[in-house]
Amino acid sequence: MVNKAHEAVMAYYKAKKQERQKARKPRRRGGRFAGYNTYREYLKSDLWQDIRERVLDAADRTCQLYGSVATQVHHRHYGHRTLKGKTLAHLLAVCGGCHMLIEFDGETKRTARQAEAWLMDRLNNQPKEQS
Ligand SMILES: [Zn+2]
Repeated sequence: MVNKAHEAVMAYYKAKKQERQKARKPRRRGGRFAGYNTYREYLKSDLWQDIRERVLDAADRTCQLYGSVATQVHHRHYGHRTLKGKTLAHLLAVCGGCHMLIEFDGETKRTARQAEAWLMDRLNNQPKEQS
């Protein structure tokens, strides 16, 4: 037997259930950015600070494009293993100037694909001098 009051109760619990599912989703997936809900939050995390230091140390704090002092780390990939620090293969130690050049074409922000293409071109055509 379904009456108005019953319908209202059902609707209430249905809405509650949907709310719970919505709230649960990011937790179940561990958050979009290695457990953090936003990229901004991720960049502020100890996890990222630690990864960043490891990348800069591994590169002797040398910009991988032009050899000046590296102070930043460029993401070539935002895959889960990279965000978790399980691989450093897609992270590049760079100076602030190079990071801007990678990310921007003049005033225009490059897409991830354009940034990677630009970077590949630089890495292939201007190999770092070994001495
Ligand atoms: Zn540089």
